Amino acid sequence: MAKRVLVVEDNELNLKLFCDLLRAHQFEVEPVRDGREAVARARDFDPQLVVMDIQMPHITGLEIIQHMKLDPRLRTIPIMAVTAYAGRDDEDRIRAAGANAYVSKPIGLVRFMEEVRALMPAESPAPEPVPAPETPEAGTEEAPQPKGPGLLF
Ligand code: MN
Repeated sequence: MAKRVLVVEDNELNLKLFCDLLRAHQFEVEPVRDGREAVARARDFDPQLVVMDIQMPHITGLEIIQHMKLDPRLRTIPIMAVTAYAGRDDEDRIRAAGANAYVSKPIGLVRFMEEVRALMPAESPAPEPVPAPETPEAGTEEAPQPKGPGLLF
């Protein structure tokens, strides 16, 4: 089943670019042009990832991230912030709000997809019978125990 990505972006050209790119990589995409709709649309669409523009009218992406992190159902969804901001302080604030990745525009297509994939939950294994485990090599079964002081548990 295709993974779902919610794309929140007020700039029509960027929105189309991100959505086209994601669809070309077999993601199911939900575009959101008005940030004020983002939280409700996230609840409906149940995405595995949110791509979040930061600079938007009415409500900033930073505020949307803060709202999402207060919602028990939305707080675990990874968020990839996409912004034209270049300042270190901005990046810190956006990450502190809960964004898992921060990418500044203009953003290369390869980099964009790398960031998307890095944030996707691990692929669930194919529903096939698990093959019998290989016979472990002799002498590798017991891990060496740490000796002496140095490790605290
Ligand atoms: Mn914008």
